[in-house]
Amino acid sequence: MATNRDYYEILGVTKSSSADEIKKAYRKMAMKYHPDKNPDDAEAEEKFKEAAEAYSVLSDSQKKAQYDRFGHAGVRGQGGFGGQGGFSGFSSTDDIFSAFGDVFGDIFGGGGRSRGRNQGPRVHRGEDLQVKLKLTLEEIATGVNKKITVKNMKNCQTCTGTGGTGVQTCQSCNGSGEVRQVSRSIFGQFVNIGACSTCQGEGKVIKQKCSTCYGEGRTRGETSINVKMPAGVSTGSYLTIRSEGNVGLRGGPSGDILVVVEEIEHDIFTRYGDDIKMEKYISFADAALGGEIRVPTLGGTAKLQISSGTQTNKILRMRGKGIPSLNSGKSGDQLVEIIVETPTKLSGREKELLEELRVLRQGKEEKHSKHKNDNGFFGKLKEELGL
Ligand SMILES: [Zn+2]
Ligand SMILES: [Zn+2]
Repeated sequence: MATNRDYYEILGVTKSSSADEIKKAYRKMAMKYHPDKNPDDAEAEEKFKEAAEAYSVLSDSQKKAQYDRFGHAGVRGQGGFGGQGGFSGFSSTDDIFSAFGDVFGDIFGGGGRSRGRNQGPRVHRGEDLQVKLKLTLEEIATGVNKKITVKNMKNCQTCTGTGGTGVQTCQSCNGSGEVRQVSRSIFGQFVNIGACSTCQGEGKVIKQKCSTCYGEGRTRGETSINVKMPAGVSTGSYLTIRSEGNVGLRGGPSGDILVVVEEIEHDIFTRYGDDIKMEKYISFADAALGGEIRVPTLGGTAKLQISSGTQTNKILRMRGKGIPSLNSGKSGDQLVEIIVETPTKLSGREKELLEELRVLRQGKEEKHSKHKNDNGFFGKLKEELGL
């Protein structure tokens, strides 16, 4: 179960704490609630997991940024969906040790936790696989179902994943997967517990290795999965599909598939978070007189009202025509920058009319100015985007 408490509060740090301070705070918590120090204390274990969850997010700059912006939803979301590097939960304290072994390394020595107690023989979990899923902005705007095919390792058909015949308990370790070595030195007697080398810690040995999979218990295959991508994702967002990755060695548990979104660049729109922006060229006449123009949107063509006297670089906002927010579901806007196009290739009649207009406009609105940078397009866009 993932926590709903504030990650900063859990570790007793603030948003401005440095990575080092966060790491130190986590070490302190982890030592205090370490399961070896609090045997059979469910509350301590909860606290230990909570701290690990907080640390998994706050120690990763991308996840931290996501969390700062969107809170828990930014790093977790529904159905195992995460933003860039989302948090998907630790199922056991052993997962925590394998994830943050480096933090514990110098406290508890080596693996971070004395191996042995209730650990049992080693199983080889299959690898996680990553698949890129390219999506158009239109697909991102609505959410999309996609069927993807992933090449993965599957249980060997010949040996049904066992790796061979004549599976026996390892004689060297009596099936425990580990061996104790007693060594003596001037400081006294030491007991080292290590993985059994005969069975690689699995506690079992195979008499006759399967000739199809050479004893691995798995062979190459592929899996087709229907992926339901919610609206509002962006490049780097990913969905975790549990247990569809590579199967483990000799019947070990399967890894996951991470479906990572890659947004295909759009021909017309540029995305700014949940807003999208485009440029629309209009005629000098439309700009001067105003009127209704047609603009593309992610959901088809729409009408847009232009007021008379519209200047070039004017940005019009079409509310709710952007991308739905992944977290709130509220749609962003479509920004339309108007570019007044100076006509070229004039017909004789057009030339005549413009000549007439030139004469009529003579002496009116003679304006001079010094170019102001902050009034330029990026200034306006920033203003529009609320930056
Ligand atoms: Zn086999
Ligand atoms: Zn063994």
